Amino acid sequence: MMSEIAIIGAGFIGLASAASLMRDGHRVTLFDPAGVGQGASFGNAGTFAHYACIPVNNPTVFRDLPRFLLSNQSPFRLRWGYLPHLAPWLVRFMMSSLPRRYETSAGALAALLDCAQDGYAPLLANAELARFVRPRECLYLYSNAASFDAARPALDLRKKLGVAFDVLDGAAIRALEPGLAPIFERGVLFSNSWHFSDPQGFLQTLYEQLAAQGLKLERSTVDAVQPGADGPSLSVGGVARRFDHVVVATGARSAHFASQCGDPVPLDTERGYHVRFPGAQHLVSRPVGWAERGFYMTPMSDGLRVAGTVELAGFGDTRNRSLLDLLTFSSKRALPALDTPDSNWLGFRPTLPDGVPVLARSRASERVIYAFGHQHLGLTLAGVSGRIVADLIARRAPPLDLAPYAATRF
Ligand SMILES: Cc1cc2nc3c(=O)[nH]c(=O)nc-3n(C[C@H](O)[C@H](O)[C@H](O)COP(=O)(O)OP(=O)(O)OC[C@H]3O[C@@H](n4cnc5c(N)ncnc54)[C@H](O)[C@@H]3O)c2cc1C
Repeated sequence: MMSEIAIIGAGFIGLASAASLMRDGHRVTLFDPAGVGQGASFGNAGTFAHYACIPVNNPTVFRDLPRFLLSNQSPFRLRWGYLPHLAPWLVRFMMSSLPRRYETSAGALAALLDCAQDGYAPLLANAELARFVRPRECLYLYSNAASFDAARPALDLRKKLGVAFDVLDGAAIRALEPGLAPIFERGVLFSNSWHFSDPQGFLQTLYEQLAAQGLKLERSTVDAVQPGADGPSLSVGGVARRFDHVVVATGARSAHFASQCGDPVPLDTERGYHVRFPGAQHLVSRPVGWAERGFYMTPMSDGLRVAGTVELAGFGDTRNRSLLDLLTFSSKRALPALDTPDSNWLGFRPTLPDGVPVLARSRASERVIYAFGHQHLGLTLAGVSGRIVADLIARRAPPLDLAPYAATRF
């Protein structure tokens, strides 16, 4: 049966949900004051990282965090003034790093990531969208054998969870990517990964195709979601708007909607940055991640995008100069031919303390669906998340058991 559906948020998750719902024949209205793909979805590293089932908070956090927080070479930062607000989230984040809990999170992520490629299949069957895909496998680099050895347990867990990869030595790395400085002793090449040449361009093209089939975009802020006994409604500019179903896909800004629908969720943000080196995309042939420094260098259509780092500092606009300098300095060390970046960007990853997204019905209304909290993986998990949203609305069996992704797990 055709329904009127509102999706709040026009990032990777909102657009992929719109595509799935429109395939099912529903009428969809997207709400986003910023337009298409202007949130975290805009400036990410562009990688389809189906191998990334290890959350940032894993047991190494207990060993590394003190050093990370005190070093100005660290890709992981905390703004101390934000600590009073962050403390409850941070405690849960640390607790989720305990071995058994972290393995549970990794398992939940791996199960979802297993469905990620199938989730993208209907989108990438379209030639206009598939032209954004670059099928070059992602390479992680380690500058010394000790840090590679420290990453071994996480690689072993990846292998146990079905992730395929090859380990490379320095000579093999240089043969693969001759533009890199000879400073890397170990590399990991992840099978069947790929990247988008322009993530926002992909979303814009998807939006234009869906708009031609009737998708509406309202550039308005949604102030509230009312679950309502006889169907949900949105409050937009003081006006109540009734829909048959509402999808909350507002990334890092989803917590207040969830709480209005009976689900207090401990969602916070891991801020991340990119710097762009115009015209330098030819220096590597694939996304190259420097594991110890926490960033990727991805060849995009408009240059080399150096993206990553984690900053726990809330939603303020102030950019951390020292993290931007770290990205610039470190990428130039890895790729000596790099010149000067011409722009930088700050984005807000939506992160729950266990690193697992919420894909679920709300407690207060079966007709409010949540799809948020995709942390470092929202691009990768967009297709499968959109499919799950449509399955929940159609009351079809989803591709996997959704219990680990419930909002009530907190
Ligand atoms: C530096 C960096 C690198 C990354 N690299 C990768 C990567 O390589 N691969 C990967 O898979 N993921 C990556 N990610 C993560 C990925 O970008 C995010 O998980 C993903 O973009 C989240 O998508 P989303 O649609 O949930 O949120 P967003 O893209 O943030 O979209 C949410 C939208 O909701 C809108 N909104 C908010 N509040 C309201 C409101 N009240 N009313 C209406 N609209 C509202 C916002 O304007 C925004 O457009 C990276 C992230 C960062 C920061």
